[in-house]
Amino acid sequence: MDVVVVGAGTFGASLAWWLARGGDSVVLVDQFEPGDPRATSGGETRLIRCSHGADAEYTAMARRARALWRELEAESGAPVLVECGVSWFAHGEDGWEAASAAALEAQRIPCERLPVEAAAARFPSFGGGDLAFVLHEPEAGFLRAQRAVRALADAARRHGARLVRARARPDGGAAVLEDGTRLEGDAVVWACGGWLGELFGDLVRLTVTRQELLFLDGGPAWAAPGVPAWVDYDRAMYGTADVDGLGVKAALDVEGPRLSPDAELPAAGATERAVRAYLAERFPALAGAPLRDARCCRYELSPDSHFIAAEHPDAPGAWLLGGGSGHGFKHGPAMAERMAVALHGGDCPPARFALGERAPGRSLRTAGSGTA
Ligand SMILES: Cc1cc2nc3c(=O)[nH]c(=O)nc-3n(C[C@H](O)[C@H](O)[C@H](O)COP(=O)(O)OP(=O)(O)OC[C@H]3O[C@@H](n4cnc5c(N)ncnc54)[C@H](O)[C@@H]3O)c2cc1C
Repeated sequence: MDVVVVGAGTFGASLAWWLARGGDSVVLVDQFEPGDPRATSGGETRLIRCSHGADAEYTAMARRARALWRELEAESGAPVLVECGVSWFAHGEDGWEAASAAALEAQRIPCERLPVEAAAARFPSFGGGDLAFVLHEPEAGFLRAQRAVRALADAARRHGARLVRARARPDGGAAVLEDGTRLEGDAVVWACGGWLGELFGDLVRLTVTRQELLFLDGGPAWAAPGVPAWVDYDRAMYGTADVDGLGVKAALDVEGPRLSPDAELPAAGATERAVRAYLAERFPALAGAPLRDARCCRYELSPDSHFIAAEHPDAPGAWLLGGGSGHGFKHGPAMAERMAVALHGGDCPPARFALGERAPGRSLRTAGSGTA
């Protein structure tokens, strides 16, 4: 079939790769080069983990995505997935981590429930007096996001996809470029990240927010291999060791202020005090670590943090894909696989990915307390 994909972030580039690899004719359109920092997928690293509380479907999808990222690596030669493990800091016996552990065990996904002292040994310094236990996922880690998106787009091109650099707007079932070119196909998939709400505001409700990432100079101990990434879901904090010379990454994961997708990304630093207060407690040796870098980027949040994957009700063949909600990156290839089935007339995406109104739901990203 002929498919136009608008948007070369993790969702669109994954779909282009998957479809082109399967023999479909694909045109992949983006206003930027794949991996541009103005797109949500354009950051250096994104966590990949299977823990999603009790949600078996996202758990399985993340596991499937891990296998597909490995396929992309084998095909492209680009090392994108680093399995450093992810440690989840549990504040109680009946929270997100305990529910995650049960879901992981049910799907035979490796995980370890560690006493705090055992978990502490994996970090250069650790304060865990407030924790009940640590759930460690040894086969989780992070993806080199920007590189991964470029690898997806390159792989799609090698399978015959045509990449077009242009801004598109929907017109019925077609995508119309700024120069008037009209792109049509058996399907047109709009995988436009934070721009999806502006393009289809009557069908999707997305909140685009400004988020910050801090990078600290933690010294050689934090750059050594084997230090896990970590998430404190109840306190809305996450981070990684110093990978690829970027510095120790730490972020406050509460929803930031609203920011239009087309607005310039402002200077970062507003969350430094909160992040430093947390680090001083959790990783005392980082208390005075110099700030190496601070960056802004955007979330595109659906009300319930579930993704969007559905056909336009009034334009058959036009599909909307996105709503990554701060946790979508890792799922790109697995979502693409599901979308491809739907485009070819098979099972539709789950009902909870449908368009229209949604009730606010519990966050599936790394923040149990999602709002500031
Ligand atoms: C700070 C931060 C941390 C995160 N951490 C994680 C994490 O640890 N793990 C995880 O899995 N996820 C994480 N995420 C979420 C994840 O990055 C996003 O869910 C995902 O990247 C969204 O991908 P996308 O393809 O929907 O959107 P995007 O990457 O934004 O791609 C959309 C593309 O569409 C293009 N586009 C839009 N409109 C048009 C148009 N009209 N014409 C042409 N092109 C258009 C844009 O240029 C863009 O390239 C994080 C996000 C942020 C910001």
